[in-house]
Amino acid sequence: MTCIGGDPLCPCQDGGACHYRDAGSTKGLPIPPRPPNDRGQGRKPLKPEDRATVGSVRLTAAEWAKFRLLGGVAWLRGTIKRARTP
Ligand SMILES: [Zn+2]
Repeated sequence: MTCIGGDPLCPCQDGGACHYRDAGSTKGLPIPPRPPNDRGQGRKPLKPEDRATVGSVRLTAAEWAKFRLLGGVAWLRGTIKRARTP
């Protein structure tokens, strides 16, 4: 949430002008007070086993190009999911 008014429907969420900022002759809306209890809002943290970590893979330029053509990380995840372990 980037809006200074904490408004998920504010155009600034999509890169537009924020409703809560003065723009030229129009006065910004008053910033609504934050709800006293924030808990339970926003993104829930993932369980440690569901959290993706970053690694690095060495591939040639041609291999990277093919990897992107195949669908990149989404393809890789699907491949891993479908593959049978030896
Ligand atoms: Zn805004």
